[in-house]
Amino acid sequence: MRGLMMDTPLLLQNIAEHAVCNHGGREIVSVTADHDRHRYTFAAAMERARRVTALLDSLGTTPDARIATLAWNDFRHLELYFGVSCSGRVLHTINPRLFAEQLVYIVNHAEDEWVFFDVAFTGLLESVATQCPGVRGYVAMTDAAHMPESSLPNLHCYETLLAAAQPVAGWPEFDENTASSLCYTSGTTGHPKGVLYSHRSTVLHTYAMALPDSAGLSALDCVLPIVPMFHVNAWGYPYAALMVGAKLVFPGHRLSEPELLVDLITEEGVTIAGGVPTVWLPVLDYLRRSGRNLAPLNRTVIGGSACPLAMIEEFREAHDVTVLHGWGMTEMSPVGTVNRPNANTADLAGEALRAHVVRQGRALPGVELRIVDEDGEELPRDGSCFGALQVRGPWVCADYYHPEAPSAAHHEGWFDTGDVAIIDADGYVKITDRTKDVIKSGGEWISSIDLENVAMSHPRVRECAVIGLPHPKWQERPLLVVVSDAADDALAAELLAMFEGRVAKWWIPNDVAFVESLPHTATGKVSKLNLRRAFDEYRFPDA
Ligand code: ADP
Repeated sequence: MRGLMMDTPLLLQNIAEHAVCNHGGREIVSVTADHDRHRYTFAAAMERARRVTALLDSLGTTPDARIATLAWNDFRHLELYFGVSCSGRVLHTINPRLFAEQLVYIVNHAEDEWVFFDVAFTGLLESVATQCPGVRGYVAMTDAAHMPESSLPNLHCYETLLAAAQPVAGWPEFDENTASSLCYTSGTTGHPKGVLYSHRSTVLHTYAMALPDSAGLSALDCVLPIVPMFHVNAWGYPYAALMVGAKLVFPGHRLSEPELLVDLITEEGVTIAGGVPTVWLPVLDYLRRSGRNLAPLNRTVIGGSACPLAMIEEFREAHDVTVLHGWGMTEMSPVGTVNRPNANTADLAGEALRAHVVRQGRALPGVELRIVDEDGEELPRDGSCFGALQVRGPWVCADYYHPEAPSAAHHEGWFDTGDVAIIDADGYVKITDRTKDVIKSGGEWISSIDLENVAMSHPRVRECAVIGLPHPKWQERPLLVVVSDAADDALAAELLAMFEGRVAKWWIPNDVAFVESLPHTATGKVSKLNLRRAFDEYRFPDA
């Protein structure tokens, strides 16, 4: 028997309309290249988003056109998030840190019709424009006074177009499975792969984001997305903030300036911020040196790579900020798990608490998780077995956008995350490694993330990574690679001694190497692939 409830499609325009009706006066603050602090309201933002739809119509874009953005976190990008998707077109956010050839590949693969861009990326686009013949024109996201001198063909000014557009009266209703946005994975090997989100998947993910045991967002919050809007929809914060009525603060192109981030947090009343661990390292360093605090901030969502224990503890002890350690991936919209206490873990203290907070958390309702062995057999959730982590659910990618070959990542309805994990009886997940970064010593696995956590707790270690390198006897052994201003033999010996009693003896790295800096991917994670390449010639002292 079918239920008799209204079959209202789950569309992003419902979030926009709800935001305007219920929180129309809520503020959005942005730092941009042409404004120190631009301020306006949700109502003004959505009025301009309706103008975006009108201007896309007037530019003659097709009904399901892919519209690319090459832009930082600010109010104009937010207008495109809604104005493009709510018109039925697809917002294709591009990571400007990609190599030029990857950028060309994805613009052509997505068949982008128009590219909207921040003025800072003019030169980058000029250098690739002739290789992207399908692009019909470019729109610089600025006003007439700040238009760049440029050779880009068919170049327009965003503010001029917007001023001339009459906002559409309302957005159309269509099937909730219509594509809303497109984001390519950074593709450490092979071509980047496109993940095509739908209105339905994005709306469901937005609801899950706001739940108390997730980011726990409310109308009293003020959200600072430091995670870029070109990476997995800034983890969904722009949609979630509008849905619940939380004030939004965007750092623009200055998202890696610690002083500005702290200014924004303290002056705008930010209560929750989200970003990868590498953006927080310089912020904590700046706070230590300046003696400033993070007063209104009470929690921060950290994920994208493992959040070091030392970071979680420093946030709590020095700033009374709770780190919500989360895990996810582009293919999961992106959030899969968040570490929030339950009745069994709320009162943990001491070593048990330390072991607990580094876990990536429990699955959000809607996400199913399992770990499997090499034959695809499900492994128990006993807190000790580790296996390949698989997921499924309404905001998990079913297939890539126009794949060149059938995807190898899907197994009988499950998506293979490429991560190795442990799950305990309460459903808490602990990621031990990426499958391709796993260290196999004498046939047994060593978790590089556990080792990095130990080393990061040393005050002289700025950043570190553990990689597996070939060893004649053990197949592979761990090497600890460290960035420190006190790089010498004494520190190396101290670091190795720290592992004693904290990890199994045979896990202790065979050696320590110091480097000026670690290689990072376009999304700010340590690139272990490039690090292993850099240590290609390295031989362990006992090898
Ligand atoms: P890419 O690295 O290609 O940009 P994603 O940003 O989608 O892709 O990265 C997803 C991967 O990042 C996950 O599969 C996992 O390996 C890693 N990751 C994300 N969050 C965490 C976390 N909290 N702890 C450990 N690894 C994480």
